[in-house]
Amino acid sequence: MAHPIAQSISIGVASSPARNTLVGHHDLYPEGIQLGLTVGAVTWIWMVVVDIVAGQPFHIFNAMGGVVTFSIAHLLLNVVFGIALVYAAHGAVTENSIAVALVFGAIMFEIGFAFITTLLSNLVLGNLAWFELFLGSVIGTSLTIFLLARRHPLFEQLMWAEVEG
Ligand SMILES: [Zn+2]
Repeated sequence: MAHPIAQSISIGVASSPARNTLVGHHDLYPEGIQLGLTVGAVTWIWMVVVDIVAGQPFHIFNAMGGVVTFSIAHLLLNVVFGIALVYAAHGAVTENSIAVALVFGAIMFEIGFAFITTLLSNLVLGNLAWFELFLGSVIGTSLTIFLLARRHPLFEQLMWAEVEG
């Protein structure tokens, strides 16, 4: 027969919710690079398609340093963001407040992006920029959150952060 204390500890462990753990295999750089390339490719295709539909192929690419330069910079930036976000998602496993910081970070990123897009559309790009760049960033951010949350318990951690205050 088990010692009463040992028994209560094992019950306590069994009934505590699954948290502070990641399921499956996790590796910062492969995950971050894959996330960045996926989001980078999807938003790149979005911009190409909008430019073509608007009848101005590669218009914004050319306005922002040329097709090749802008495409490489765009992909690199997404990979850097991807690695940073996976790093944060892994950190959020032991520190729930990081999940809150990620959500606020995403909102701040969109506000900042809206601001920059307004400047760019006034200065060089025209009204198409608003649709193309800002909506593109919303698509990219939504896809990032979806892909991150699929393998990392971010929403559970948000709820825990709420409970803990
Ligand atoms: Zn991971």
